[in-house]
Amino acid sequence: MRVALVALVVLSGCVKSVPGGKVMEENPIVQTGAPVLRAKAQDVPVEQIATPEFQALLSRMIDTMRQAPGVGLAAPQIGVPWRVLVLEDREELMASLSEAERAERMRVVVPVRVFINPTLTLIGEEKATFFEGCLSVAGFAGLVERSLEVEVSGLDEKGQPATWRVRGWPARILQHEVDHLAGTLYVDRMMTRSFGTLPQVKARFGGKPIEQVRRELGL
Ligand code: ZN
Repeated sequence: MRVALVALVVLSGCVKSVPGGKVMEENPIVQTGAPVLRAKAQDVPVEQIATPEFQALLSRMIDTMRQAPGVGLAAPQIGVPWRVLVLEDREELMASLSEAERAERMRVVVPVRVFINPTLTLIGEEKATFFEGCLSVAGFAGLVERSLEVEVSGLDEKGQPATWRVRGWPARILQHEVDHLAGTLYVDRMMTRSFGTLPQVKARFGGKPIEQVRRELGL
């Protein structure tokens, strides 16, 4: 089972050369305990969005998300206290999930999207519970109940208003990332008895339907 938000442990503080001679930090993702992950992020002034500096921030966020790899990233996770999130889900990131697991999660390919100063509305009463991880809590996962459907409104990368109503896994990603902008981590919402390392969770629960997982955990 690929655990939820594809959290991966990466080395901290290393640098490596990449093709083209560019030097990138190996892990620029801020880890839990850092104050920036617990602060309320600030709205981005709209006039900033078209600037090269802000566009470079968006590129850096997308690059960082892909390199991790993850399916979403909020600006505070790279130390920037602004209300910006990016998300993208790719076929290769769900390759280890069976068709049944994909269907249960309502996990689908999502082209990269940017939301600046987003507001999130939970739609309806339906909930879904799955394991989630976080690039800022590297190496762990826990069960989190989320709304099945949400609507997010904000500005896109060009500063144009954008609204997206979505169900399933992308709705989970959005809830997780918008939480980051308010200084909330999934560990604040998880069923604490389900918390484990990624290898433990994978070994114990990989491939099992979520109802069986919950039964085994007594949740
Ligand atoms: Zn996260």
